[in-house]
Amino acid sequence: MLKGIGVSPGIAIGSALVWAPESLLVLRRKIEPDDVEKQIERLHVAIGKARQELSAVRDRMIHEMGLRQAYIFEAHIMMLDDKLLVEQTETRIREDLDETAWALHQTLEVLWKKLDESDNEYIRQRTADISDVGKQIMRKLLGSQHRQDLSNLDREVIIVAHDLSPSDTAMMKREMVIGFATEIGGKTSHTAIMSRALEIPAIVGVENLLGQIQTGDGLILDGMSGKLFLEPGGQLFQEYLDRAQRYHYFERQLKQLKDLPPETTDGYRVELAANVELIDEIETLVQNGATSIGLYRTEFLYLSKNATPTEEEHYLAYRSVAEKLAPAPAIIRTFDLGGDKFISSPKLDNTFHSSLGLRAIRFCLRELEMFRSQLRGILRASVHGNLKIMFPMISTLCELRQAKEQVHVAMDELRSQGIAFDEQIEVGLMIEVPSAAIIADSLAKEADFFSVGTNDLIQYALAIDRVNEDVAYLYEPLHPAVLRMAKYVVDVGHGEGIWVGICGEMAADPAVAILLLGMGFDELSMNPVAIPRIKKVVRAFSYAEAVDLAEIVLEMPTAEEAGAILREKIAEKFPEGLY
Ligand code: PEP
Ligand code: MG
Repeated sequence: MLKGIGVSPGIAIGSALVWAPESLLVLRRKIEPDDVEKQIERLHVAIGKARQELSAVRDRMIHEMGLRQAYIFEAHIMMLDDKLLVEQTETRIREDLDETAWALHQTLEVLWKKLDESDNEYIRQRTADISDVGKQIMRKLLGSQHRQDLSNLDREVIIVAHDLSPSDTAMMKREMVIGFATEIGGKTSHTAIMSRALEIPAIVGVENLLGQIQTGDGLILDGMSGKLFLEPGGQLFQEYLDRAQRYHYFERQLKQLKDLPPETTDGYRVELAANVELIDEIETLVQNGATSIGLYRTEFLYLSKNATPTEEEHYLAYRSVAEKLAPAPAIIRTFDLGGDKFISSPKLDNTFHSSLGLRAIRFCLRELEMFRSQLRGILRASVHGNLKIMFPMISTLCELRQAKEQVHVAMDELRSQGIAFDEQIEVGLMIEVPSAAIIADSLAKEADFFSVGTNDLIQYALAIDRVNEDVAYLYEPLHPAVLRMAKYVVDVGHGEGIWVGICGEMAADPAVAILLLGMGFDELSMNPVAIPRIKKVVRAFSYAEAVDLAEIVLEMPTAEEAGAILREKIAEKFPEGLY
């Protein structure tokens, strides 16, 4: 048995396909001076082809998997235009008379080294992206195809690799991939996010995996426990076959909860809403029985075309959401650009990518025209359904006031043009910065609702960079500091008569969801595929029971103790497991 970190649930039983790192052989070649222009043209043709291929992949990813997964390709496309990359390669061809592939190879080496030496963790992590992009161009130059094997799979396999790059996963024939196991990575690595979005069981961080497994080996992969069994024999094999069957049965049963209300046994109803990035996801949301949209991430409008959307584009996107959901509400979050919502681009400076930099509402309050055109888009769409406006990353009361002021200016502009909008539209904010949590009492007096964004709140409260794997082990949703802040926000929100939701990933964990219910959250918003399981949990508890449990858990001095109590309670209710 090998052990790693289970990052995407489910059980896969099948044979391994070992995916070895690709090495592209580049020879050191010189050219004649009159060959220079031809070689430079080759470079641009190769970049053009790589751009075409990446754009096609990005478009496919946007539709198939949502924006989060597509960001990375958008960033790769932008890297193709990187001045340093193109100009330095050209210079090497022109001045050193290097053949194009060799010139590119050397330029990339210098770039990698530079990125790798950066003090900024985020920038350092981008070496892998540059490497991926460099390989794309190089393949075109060398005339080698993208490794075909993964796109031509003719039987079901469990992919075993050191790591999987975004383009590897994008190219693979996914209906043939039943599991992933990699040597490196953590819960937030690319493979992990991808496998969860695709609902393929996965394990990452298995030490010396490639040294122990060969293509064709029989494997059992348990994405819950992180265990990987090699050539499992008789009893174990039978046991896992049974478990896999039970898992599938359980999944099917969950889908049947779709039309039942998210109500506790004593009749308390909590909203189970969906976090959504793309209009295409509304189908998934309906299938999974979400009651509304608790967080509509709008960044894709910007990122999918890499430019500021027009007011009309905003309007059409939100109108479509409003119409599809009406009468249920959809909360439109204004641009949360920057931080983790963008991969590094040569065009933007580093502070934009820093989680403490000029991002989200800060960026919008700097770019008022852009911000107001989004607000007008939302307001105009609001007559077609039930929309609410939400601001990300608010850290002071003044910021909330300034943002609301822009809503009022947008409203005045529309009034003067005689354009209708919902005059009663609710305007709320995300509580995802500790300062906002602590002044929630004053924010509540000037907002219609709160939604606690724990993905960021945890990052800022515990001083843990969301994208830094070295400190991922400290990223702990049940840390007493996080729970106390969240509880305070709910209580003062209710004290001021506003409703309070939560839209961080932690709401999708069954044991944590019951705690959040007991803490008094009115709405739990999560990725749509998590909803059926959470609904099952909500329907198994009484509200009184959840409140008692929350009281006990909030007294716990450590996350470990809080987690143990919650898991025990869930095990008691669901002795057969919840998977
Ligand atoms: C959050 O920060 O918890 C959140 C829901 O927003 P995002 O993950 O988009 O930053
Ligand atoms: Mg956030």
